[in-house]
Amino acid sequence: MRIIDEIWDRSPTLSFEFFPPQDDIGFWDLYRTIESLKPLSPSYVSVTYGAGGGTRKKTLELVARIKRDSGIEPLAHLTCVEHTRVEIAEIVDNLKNNRVENILGLRGDPPEGKGKFEPMPDGFAHASDLIEFIRDRHPGLCLGGACHPETHPEAAGPEADLENLKRKVDAGVNFLITQLFFNNDDFYRFRDRCAEAGVFVPLVAGIMPILSVKQIKRFTGMCGAGIPADLLSKIEAVEDDPDAVRHLGVLHATEQCQDLIENGVGGLHFYTLNRSTATRAIFQQIKSRLEVKAGR
Ligand code: FAD
Repeated sequence: MRIIDEIWDRSPTLSFEFFPPQDDIGFWDLYRTIESLKPLSPSYVSVTYGAGGGTRKKTLELVARIKRDSGIEPLAHLTCVEHTRVEIAEIVDNLKNNRVENILGLRGDPPEGKGKFEPMPDGFAHASDLIEFIRDRHPGLCLGGACHPETHPEAAGPEADLENLKRKVDAGVNFLITQLFFNNDDFYRFRDRCAEAGVFVPLVAGIMPILSVKQIKRFTGMCGAGIPADLLSKIEAVEDDPDAVRHLGVLHATEQCQDLIENGVGGLHFYTLNRSTATRAIFQQIKSRLEVKAGR
C-alpha cells in the first residue's frame, strides 16, 4: 500500500515511529509494543535509520519483518549519511525486493562526535538529491520527506528553507512529515507558507508526547523546536514527578491532535520512542474524531 493513497483516501492517517533496538531483548519489547498498538489500526509504522554501525542493518531487517509478518505497512527511513550512491542503490533495491513500497528520504543527522554533516565524495548532500535518485531508479515507490515548521536549524532562514523544501518536493516527494512541534499555530503558519510557495503535498504532523523534562529539552535543543513558555513552566513545576510530567505531556498532545484533526491535517505521526502507553492514552481521547473524519 502506498501511503500517499491512504492519505488521499482516509486522512488524517495515524502512524507510529520506532527505532531499531540495540539487542534481542529490545527487539522482543518492540514487537510487543507494535502488537499493543495494532488494535489502533495505524495506516503505517515507520522505522528510523541510524547514523552508522549495526543499527542500519537492523532498520532494514525490521522493516522487512514488519512488512512480512505484522499486517501493518512499513515506512523505511533512509539517510544520505556516510553512504555512496552505489550503497544507496543497493539498499533501495533490497527494500523493493522485500516489497517495501514507502521510503522516507532524509539527509540525516551526523554521526555522534561529528558536529557537522559531510556528504560522501560519491554521496548525496541534500535530501532532495537522494529523493531524485530514488525517484529515477524506482518511479513507482511512494516517497516521503521531512519538513521543519519552525525552520531547520542549519537553514539560512525560513525563506531559504522553504525554497529548499520546494526543491525536495519537486524532486519527487509525495508527502511530508513535520519535525515535532508543540504550538499548532506554528504548523498552520507553515502550512500557509507552503501553499503560497507552491508546496502542495499533504503535511503529516509529527507529535511527540512529553515523557520527561530533561529528554524533551535535549530533543528540542537538537531540532530547533520551541516549547511554549506556559507548557514549559507547567512541566518544570512537576519535573521531579515523572507521572505528573507524563500526564501533562499526554494532555497537551491530546489537545494538539484534536485541534489538528479539526483543522484538516493530513495525518498524525507519533514519535513513540518505542513505547505505547502515552500513544494509546491519546488515541482513546481522539479516536471518535478520527473515526468521523477518516471514516475508520
Ligand atoms: P534536507 O532537506 O537536506 O535539509 C537540511 C538542511 O539543508 C536544511 O537547512 C535545508 O534548508 C538545507 N538544504 C536542503 N537542500 C538544499 C540545497 N539544495 N542547497 C542548500 N541547502 C539545502 N535523522 C536520522 O538520522 N535518521 C532518521 O531516521 C530520521 N528520521 C526523521 C524523521 C522525520 C519525520 C524528521 C522530521 C526528521 C528525521 N531525522 C532523522 C532528522 C533529519 O535527518 C534532520 O532533521 C536533518 O538535519 C535534516 O534532514 P532533512 O531530510 O530535512 O534534510
